[in-house]
Amino acid sequence: MGTQNAVLLNCLRAIVGDAHVITDAITMQSYTIDWTGRWQGEAVAVVRPGTTDEVSAVVAACHERRIPITAQGGNTGLVGGAIPSAGSIVLSTQRLNSIDTIDPVGRIIAAGAGVTVAMADDAASKHGLQFGIDLASRDSATLGGIVATNAGGVRMVRHGNTRAQLLGVEAVLSDGAVLSRWIPLVKDNVGYDLPGLLAGSEGTLAIITKVLMKLTTPPPETQVVLAGVSTIEAALNLCDRMRRHGLTVEAAEIMTTDGVALVCSHSDARHPFGQPSPLYTLIEISSSGDTEATVLEILSASADTMDDAIVEPGPARKLWQIRESHTECISRASSTPVVKLDVAVPLPEMSTFITALESALAAEFSEVTPILFGHFADGNIHVNILNVPTAASNAITDRVFEIVAAHHGSISAEHGIGRAKKSWITLGRSPVDIRIMKQIKSALDPRCLLNPDVLLPTASAESTQT
Ligand SMILES: Cc1cc2nc3c(=O)[nH]c(=O)nc-3n(C[C@H](O)[C@H](O)[C@H](O)COP(=O)(O)OP(=O)(O)OC[C@H]3O[C@@H](n4cnc5c(N)ncnc54)[C@H](O)[C@@H]3O)c2cc1C
Repeated sequence: MGTQNAVLLNCLRAIVGDAHVITDAITMQSYTIDWTGRWQGEAVAVVRPGTTDEVSAVVAACHERRIPITAQGGNTGLVGGAIPSAGSIVLSTQRLNSIDTIDPVGRIIAAGAGVTVAMADDAASKHGLQFGIDLASRDSATLGGIVATNAGGVRMVRHGNTRAQLLGVEAVLSDGAVLSRWIPLVKDNVGYDLPGLLAGSEGTLAIITKVLMKLTTPPPETQVVLAGVSTIEAALNLCDRMRRHGLTVEAAEIMTTDGVALVCSHSDARHPFGQPSPLYTLIEISSSGDTEATVLEILSASADTMDDAIVEPGPARKLWQIRESHTECISRASSTPVVKLDVAVPLPEMSTFITALESALAAEFSEVTPILFGHFADGNIHVNILNVPTAASNAITDRVFEIVAAHHGSISAEHGIGRAKKSWITLGRSPVDIRIMKQIKSALDPRCLLNPDVLLPTASAESTQT
């Protein structure tokens, strides 16, 4: 270890205590390898501050010595954004895990960045409320992480993305200064929306230490429909019919026959119907009236467009398990790290997009296994490609994104850009957009120390992709 690093480590230990500066290789692994196993980094140390003041002092010490910092919450991100570059420190928010207040009248939660989504939802439920973001990684994903990635999740169709629910942040800037934009008001138009700017910034603009977020009212009761359908249009029409009958769509997911079969063979989930269907849609619905009666009426009127259907009162965990186990089972089933491309396309183009994608992959990359699923009512399809030879991963990504662009879609619906999609950002942002993003980055982080290898393209990527 160089003298400079030894001095830095001593300084960090003095700030957070010896126990919270981790340097042994084995313990560091869970911080330097991502959830997918595709991204592996190297760090000088993992530092776990317990207060905002400690975060500020750690960041200031790194700023002085020009040491890059990667913020990390639950390390459930799927684009390699929380993985450090050599010479960096990982700043883990695990110890910023207290819930400061829940205001049941204003419906607001104030909590540390390291609080998990599940903890926030549990705390809200004690006041008869609900945390508006929900995702299968809820037990590990943190509030700082969902803000930094602007996470979507299964309730996005109902409550919007994380940015839509964010009221305020406390965050440490790259020189250690603390930004506190902390107004518990849903109406506040005084100047630029700085919390909104940090939403989706992927640790490149500031380290979020606390968040102030809206809470929602849970529906009194829900019904969960799992229907086997032959086409995306049939699934979209079912969703549309639910809405036109005054029902509220709380979640709307799509799965394929291959995805459901894979989940059933890699978990204890059971196949829902006697005969497989090409597609399965899972829709959770609520209403102020008799939801079950209305749902049954809609299903019977839609019988000619469905192969089969089950209706269960929410939370219907067994039905949800089939959908929520996809990410984990897919990782288990693939012989190589899964290429995960989380994309969105306009709803009218979804069907042609899927057909074009499946035929291109079958014709050009016959050795891989694609599994598609996602929050389809938001236009979001998670394209997971299994068994991809490492050398083919960029070519496959290129091809999928080419098809996404041809269908006027987005190359990142909800997981962000991270390291995985950095080279393709020009497919989603114009040169002027990128110039402005770089100017914002250099205004907030002039030494480029916060997650320097994430999100923004390098000069060569810009010139090859434009
Ligand atoms: C099974 C599974 C299901 C998932 N489902 C969904 C889904 O439905 N929708 C969805 O959007 N995502 C989903 N994800 C992806 C992931 O859970 C989200 O991106 C989540 O928001 C990441 O939170 P985290 O705390 O784990 O962040 P990390 O993975 O630790 O970090 C993610 C990014 O945020 C930055 N970051 C983290 N904390 C901070 C902070 N305090 N300040 C500044 N930057 C920070 C990191 O530097 C990194 O760039 C899923 C992942 C898994 C494994």
